[in-house]
Amino acid sequence: MFLSSLWVILSLSSSPSMANQIQEKSLADLCQEELKKFPGPIDKKALSSACEKVKVLKGCQSVEGRKIFHYDKIGTSSRPQRILAKSLIHGDETPAGAVGRAWMARLENISPRNSWRVIPIANPDGELRKTRYNSRGVDLNRNFPTDDWGDAALNYWKKRQKSDPRRYPGNGPASEPETQCLVNHFKDFKPDFIISIHTPLGVLDFDGPKLKNLPHFSPLPWISLGNFPGSLGRYMWRDRQVPVLTIELKGEKDLKTLEEFDRLQDISGTVALQWNRLKEKNN
Ligand SMILES: [Zn+2]
Repeated sequence: MFLSSLWVILSLSSSPSMANQIQEKSLADLCQEELKKFPGPIDKKALSSACEKVKVLKGCQSVEGRKIFHYDKIGTSSRPQRILAKSLIHGDETPAGAVGRAWMARLENISPRNSWRVIPIANPDGELRKTRYNSRGVDLNRNFPTDDWGDAALNYWKKRQKSDPRRYPGNGPASEPETQCLVNHFKDFKPDFIISIHTPLGVLDFDGPKLKNLPHFSPLPWISLGNFPGSLGRYMWRDRQVPVLTIELKGEKDLKTLEEFDRLQDISGTVALQWNRLKEKNN
């Protein structure tokens, strides 16, 4: 009796399907453990369900080998916009992670018009250390391989940013595995629209075409921050005509209830649809 039970246990644990289950389970656990650390309200049941579905795109690991996971939800519209949202490219902007988390959890509960991909922790090593940059001291939002990266990124950093170590663009374009991971996501998911969530400037910024009637979201006014050599806005909008909406929270007190997170997501989706209408008009 004992021997036969042991045989069942051993044979189950060595089957490939069991191995996959164990692997997926640990990714779900990692997702929950990481995302629960952020401040703000949580729909625990929906988050747990969303974390069961997260995946890791090939090569999406940090310098120190931490997994950069993502969550996908397919839209119901006949021609859904493909929206990629990411938070915590700057590891010390903890409240931004609460937005990625809330949107993932909400997408579990709704049938969205648009297709969404959410990458809640784009810089896991920085998030662990509470640093803006990754574990090699590179500001990933200056490391995107923009057409002008060449000398421009380092020159801009030295002259305009006075070699501020918080904004070091790296030794070369896309030198960092975290940047390469995001570039691979752009190739894999082919977003029509990108949302990048940050703190602490307290504004909404749009790298994209002039849109009329941008939706109002108190307490974050629309202000153009411009873009830089190696930044996401320059890489995706200026070089590739995929608009980037940057959400800069002031801090965790901007959004207190899940409804406010929902509203911010709906406003972002509305801007994506405005862009789509403009694109269709011009085609
Ligand atoms: Zn930031």
